[in-house]
Amino acid sequence: MACDCMLLPHRDGNDLDSPLELHPLPNGVWDGKIAYLDRDGVLNKGSENYINSIDELVILPGVPNSVAALREAGFRICVVTNQSPIGRGIWTSKNLNSIHIKMRELLLEENSNAHLDLILYSPYSPWDGAWARKPNPGMLEAGRQIISASENNIIPNLKFDTDWENRPDESTSVMVGDRNVDMAAASNFGVRGFRCDPDIGLPDVLAKILGD
Ligand SMILES: [Mg+2]
Repeated sequence: MACDCMLLPHRDGNDLDSPLELHPLPNGVWDGKIAYLDRDGVLNKGSENYINSIDELVILPGVPNSVAALREAGFRICVVTNQSPIGRGIWTSKNLNSIHIKMRELLLEENSNAHLDLILYSPYSPWDGAWARKPNPGMLEAGRQIISASENNIIPNLKFDTDWENRPDESTSVMVGDRNVDMAAASNFGVRGFRCDPDIGLPDVLAKILGD
């Protein structure tokens, strides 16, 4: 990695570089596309006070079908979410994991193809200067390498920033978010950004993504 002090993404429910089991895509072979999705205001209703428990988790209408539609169009789904309450000491990764388990359940309840292939998060506080925290591209860098390695049945040798050379083409991938910081992360990583209305979320930009 670029520097020993670099603060790297965390992976929901597992070590960052442990093997990832992918559910098959509905239409077969993966051609390299990834939809990097912010979480709050994209998949679920956001809150200024964070989503602190499963009771506060509300999936936005139409999101399960939109996630499934992206997978049907050949996208792998990688959630990339800043979760500073962990770094601020408000709650733990375990709490976040329980929210994500519930989120996966709610999505699949409504559409059995609405798998989130990978969930990455930045647990750091804004003042930590973490490479993982959007607008930095660390989560997107990790997401690409973890999913590509898994598709090729190899263990990822994760590299970040200037240490990662010969990067794959991201021209068919997308990043969806509801804030400037998401669009900045898209730009810093080099992928097209789609900004959605936080009250609508992913369904707001689905047609634009699939129409491209
Ligand atoms: Mg958001």
